[in-house]
Amino acid sequence: MTSRVLVTGGSGMVGTALRQQLPNAVFVSSKDCDLKDATSVNSLMLEHEPEHVIHLAARVGGVKANSDYIGDFFLENILINANVLEASRKHNVKKVISILSTCVYPDSVTYPLTECQFHNGPPHDSNYGYAYAKRMLDVQSRAYRQQYGCNFITAIPNNLFGENDNYDLDNSHVIPAIMRKMHEAKLNNESVVLWGDGSPLREFTYSKDLADILLLLLDRYDDPEPINVGNTQEYSIKEIAEMVAEIVEFNGEIIWDTSKPTGQHRKPSDNSKLIGLGWKQENYTDLKKALTKTYKWVILKYPHLRGIV
Ligand code: NDP
Repeated sequence: MTSRVLVTGGSGMVGTALRQQLPNAVFVSSKDCDLKDATSVNSLMLEHEPEHVIHLAARVGGVKANSDYIGDFFLENILINANVLEASRKHNVKKVISILSTCVYPDSVTYPLTECQFHNGPPHDSNYGYAYAKRMLDVQSRAYRQQYGCNFITAIPNNLFGENDNYDLDNSHVIPAIMRKMHEAKLNNESVVLWGDGSPLREFTYSKDLADILLLLLDRYDDPEPINVGNTQEYSIKEIAEMVAEIVEFNGEIIWDTSKPTGQHRKPSDNSKLIGLGWKQENYTDLKKALTKTYKWVILKYPHLRGIV
């Protein structure tokens, strides 16, 4: 890619995964520019004059953080998104890719999740602040396309994991939480307590696969509708826990705390639009391989991981 690309959220999990594929792009973190501030975002665009923007930055968190700070999740994400899209419009950015999430689909929906159902009802109560702010990315992208002809598109990944994830147990997603708990339990010769009964089925996508997919979308996808991009292979949380235990070489007891909520049984998504663009199911990295790579990175960095120190 020879065009000028600016990546927001460049210090995050997906941002760092993209660095290898886009060595000449400008990667921006909150230390370079607070995207909640419109003037700063405008200066950022003036400075770099990007042709393409990959907009990854967001206030991201697990179920607890999303619920405890629901107002902050709404406001911060609304401001970040509105400022990035408006500055991209004003500075004639040719194409913007923004990231939504399958967790912002309606709570009550027909499975598998298809893109046309994205706004068909309220999101889950626990994360409606984040969810509505994310949904407005789709609204603003379409509205700018309609009024100004902007080529602003949106992609919908499912659960992501990989190197540079967030390992804060109050604020992390399922894979980094299980990996950290098992790593520490192995070091301390303890058992591990996991939430629920392990039966829910979920889909997981490796951050480096998402990086590849974003480049494919930059090249081939110009439609106003969002596009599901996640790996649709389902695993139970129990299977994930067993796989991580094997990789970590954690041989202690796994205690399932069934007093804690388990969530919906399944949330499968439909990625046939992505497959129609030429992406193949076998292009996704095998889950065990991706978890092994992630854990190798964790061992190298521990305890200097995001969310621990
Ligand atoms: P991370 O939490 O790893 O990274 C977030 C990034 O956003 C960081 O670079 C952070 O900068 C930046 N950021 C946050 N607030 C601001 C701000 N006010 N100004 C400038 N930059 C800011 O996120 P991921 O890489 O995991 O997620 C990437 C995208 O994918 C997000 O849009 C997220 O909503 C979406 N997504 C994530 C999923 C997941 O499982 N992680 C699942 C589905 C979608 P800094 O490091 O300086 O704080």
